[in-house]
Order: sequence, then C-alpha cells, then structure tokens
Amino acid sequence: MKRRIRWDNCGLCGELRITTREHVVPRSLYPASKSNSRFQRITIAACATCNNGTADDDAHFRNVVLVAGEAIDAVKELWSGPVRRGFAQVDGHRRARDIFDLMRPAPDVGPNRYRIFPAEDPRILQTVRKIIRGLSRHHGLAYPLSDGQVFADVMRQTIPEEILAAMEHNAAEPDVLEYGYLSLDEPHGLSSAWFLRFFQRTTFIGFVFASEAARQQHMGH
Ligand SMILES: [Zn+2]
Repeated sequence: MKRRIRWDNCGLCGELRITTREHVVPRSLYPASKSNSRFQRITIAACATCNNGTADDDAHFRNVVLVAGEAIDAVKELWSGPVRRGFAQVDGHRRARDIFDLMRPAPDVGPNRYRIFPAEDPRILQTVRKIIRGLSRHHGLAYPLSDGQVFADVMRQTIPEEILAAMEHNAAEPDVLEYGYLSLDEPHGLSSAWFLRFFQRTTFIGFVFASEAARQQHMGH
C-alpha cells in the first residue's frame, strides 16, 4: 500500500496530526493466499507516535500466536515463508529468543513439549489493545481511545456460546481471525467488551472503559 501522508485526526489518539493509513489487523498475520482478506483491508489514519515500533511488535505478535497450538494451513504457510525469512534476518536470533522466553515446559502433554504464555509478554497485550482501539474506531464506537482505557488478556477458557450469540458484531475469517464485540456504553464504566481469536487457537478478551480511571477502578492497574 502506498504511504499517503495527510493531515487528519489520528484514529487512535484523536489528535490532528500528520497521518498515514495503517492496517488495524496487522498485515503480517495474513499469508499470501489471503492477501484479499477483508479484515486485512481495514485501515485507519494513524500518527507516527501511535504507530511507533509497530512493525517489530506485529512480527513478534504473529510469531507468538503461530506457535501456540496445532498447525493449520494458514499457520503452515506463514511458517514456511515470512516467519522463516524473519528469523534469517540480522535480528533473527533476538526474535527467536523473544518467543522462547515465553515458553514453559508442559510435562502433562509430553516430554520436551512446551506451552507458550502470550500474556506474560506486555508487547503482546499491547498489540491486542491497539487492534481493539483500531477496530473500535473502524466500527464507530468510542473514540478516541487511549491505551490506558483498554484492558486485554488471554482468554483461558473457550467462550460460552451464549456470550458469542450476545455479541452484536461477530465477524470471522476463522483460519486467521475471528472477533466480536458488545457495545455497552456505560457513561462511567464499560464502553464495550471484545473477543479476538487468532488462527483458531489463541483467544484474547478485551474491555474498553469510558476513561482510564474507570479501567483502574474495575481492573486494577
Ligand atoms: Zn495518534
């Protein structure tokens, strides 16, 4: 995509700044065979400050959600292409180590088996919060949203069907991303609740609050 630079309100911080169109759902999550994905095409205006460091965080995020769970076709395609190439680059060892740091032995599964714990890495959850902020803008929900208004964590159980059914928006390209939200619009509390499931395996939940103070009050710091 061409970098079209223009004055606009940043879709994340809301400030009037020099912006470029940025992908809300990181492009690096999509293998070549899915380059026409409608989720991949969701873009917002974003300023340089909000977009700082994104490419590296996006690659790390992809690598982490890919190694969790069993391989599916979209995962295999990414592993055999962009991920392997990424590890061959100058900073490839660091990227690989970033992943290994999150792995813990899983003796219940078998010897030499590991589980990965994405929530132990603040960069992963920050990427999730940023995707939620961008999708919130895209869907015309609360705006602007600071990072501090959003809480995100790994969903540790499967999502009950009745909660999925209650989501007012539920969109899926299941082999890469499925997400949904429920808009609550409590003036001093919860603005919206979210789930995002990547590669049919790693699910995150998110809560957007009316203010940073409201988030602290409900979720702690
Ligand atoms: Zn911004």
